[in-house]
Amino acid sequence: METIRPLWDSVWLTNMGKLHNELATQLEKYLEVSNVSLFVNGHMALEMVLQAMDLSGEVITTPFTFASTTHAIVRNGLTPVFCDIDPDDYTIDASKIESLITDKTCAIVPVHVYGCICDVEAIEAIAKKHGLKVIYDAAHAFAVKYKGRGVGNFGDASMFSFHATKVYHTVEGGAITTDDKDLMDRLWKLKDFGIRDEEVVDGIGANAKMNEFCAAMGLCNLRHIDEEIEKRRLVFERYMDRLSGTEGIALMKPQKDVTPNYAYYPIVVDEKKFGSNRQVIIDSLAKEDIHVRKYFYPLTSDMDCYKGRFDSSLTPVAKWTADRAITLPMSASLSLDDVDRICEIVRSCRG
Ligand SMILES: *Cc1c(COP(=O)(O)O)cnc(C)c1O
Repeated sequence: METIRPLWDSVWLTNMGKLHNELATQLEKYLEVSNVSLFVNGHMALEMVLQAMDLSGEVITTPFTFASTTHAIVRNGLTPVFCDIDPDDYTIDASKIESLITDKTCAIVPVHVYGCICDVEAIEAIAKKHGLKVIYDAAHAFAVKYKGRGVGNFGDASMFSFHATKVYHTVEGGAITTDDKDLMDRLWKLKDFGIRDEEVVDGIGANAKMNEFCAAMGLCNLRHIDEEIEKRRLVFERYMDRLSGTEGIALMKPQKDVTPNYAYYPIVVDEKKFGSNRQVIIDSLAKEDIHVRKYFYPLTSDMDCYKGRFDSSLTPVAKWTADRAITLPMSASLSLDDVDRICEIVRSCRG
């Protein structure tokens, strides 16, 4: 309440107001990045950064992601080329990127899936060698660090989502982080209809600005983010403790040199070893009013809107994983007793 009262007094409710600018500054500090450009949501941030880079041709990306990643590429008139994923951390398999590069390739859009960090070093080497842009979908990776560096520092730009379902949120919101000052200027304009000044409109932009209420929410939540992540850590470790060693259930593996954010708790159910499939687990949990998601399913390349355009058999690991993954309930407010109960039900599904 105290944060939003001055908004009514100032009558400045959007268009890069005081709280908007304050949040950008605080996020630059928190994420340890040089620039943050705030957006109405993560999806528009990704669409606009691709537009701002003025790309054309093919973009190498992953089908094991939320619809947004692929849609942002296609809605920019670019062609997604799907690369398979690494079975250990579900991110793009960097060893398979180079064989997909053609003379039309302009960029790579990898995703830090579930907050697992892509092989940023290998991706950077490939991008340098072939002169490609790298834009990370870091929607899941708020606060994650790799070798002590904020994850928003890798590639040419990263997109973060501040949707209500994410670890850190502004109700709806998103951001681009980048070192590139020119890119920052283009984004500033594009998210405000391409307006340069009162009489000059020199970009074909849209309206994708973050308003002052979302910025206020963001400032409040930023005060509690470390607590939030710490509570999630306890939930995450409890899951790991209760489920590890269960034959046929693959757990997310802690990554070397990564400071995680405990955003999700995915499990991948191998029906041959577990004796029953993920649907049995989903149904058993649903009976107890516990609702879990097949996340991500289907692969974006298998979505109805892309029917006939892509061949998901070319990304067999992604396909296998999408057919078997579920994300268990994960939040700071989940009690350890509830985690125990969930794990009990999961284990009881063994056939
Ligand atoms: C949430 C999410 C987005 C989109 O972010 P919004 O803020 O909801 O627009 C994009 N990519 C991934 C991987 C996401 O999880």
